Amino acid sequence: MYDLKDTRWIKNIYQVRPAALGQVILTFDDGPGRHLNDILDILNAENIQAIFFWQSKLLYKGRPWRRVLNEGHHIGSHACNHKNLVRLTKGQQFGQIKYSIDKIESITGTKVQHFRPPYGQYNEDTMSILDELNLTPIMWEITSYDWSNKHTPEKIVENVVEHVKDGSIILLHELEQTAKALPQIIEGIREKGFEFTNKL
Ligand SMILES: [Zn+2]
Repeated sequence: MYDLKDTRWIKNIYQVRPAALGQVILTFDDGPGRHLNDILDILNAENIQAIFFWQSKLLYKGRPWRRVLNEGHHIGSHACNHKNLVRLTKGQQFGQIKYSIDKIESITGTKVQHFRPPYGQYNEDTMSILDELNLTPIMWEITSYDWSNKHTPEKIVENVVEHVKDGSIILLHELEQTAKALPQIIEGIREKGFEFTNKL
């Protein structure tokens, strides 16, 4: 059972487990979208595996989910349509989470293990549902603010590289400016001596 007051557990959803020292995780929210292939090209060229948190309403059979899985990335759920879960009843939250998992699993044939709540907002009901459905909640430690830097990808690089720490889980989105910033983000993180993982 996830206990919101248990700080050991809470720490683990913001950072890679202590077993993976020297490693960080790139996460991409709000897809699958039209910049996914560009992001995959960069990650593939750099041999980096990431976690994608998808809104199930955007997942059609024609999306390149096969490529995502073949290249070693994980697909997690970001619920159905980006509703703020804390404003919903427990039953509605259950619907948002369960339906999204079922849809991703039925299309990809692969078990979903990770969940990231829209806006990073969750409560006791959310955690009890995730526990029941055997899903691990994943938050983030480093915010790239990529959504508010459409014309300034260099700011996105700075927001990540200047703040990244051992074990950081990094929040990015499937946006054009994020794809532009990504090569330098990767380079900057490697220069600081960290490597990439998507194992939790
Ligand atoms: Zn989101």
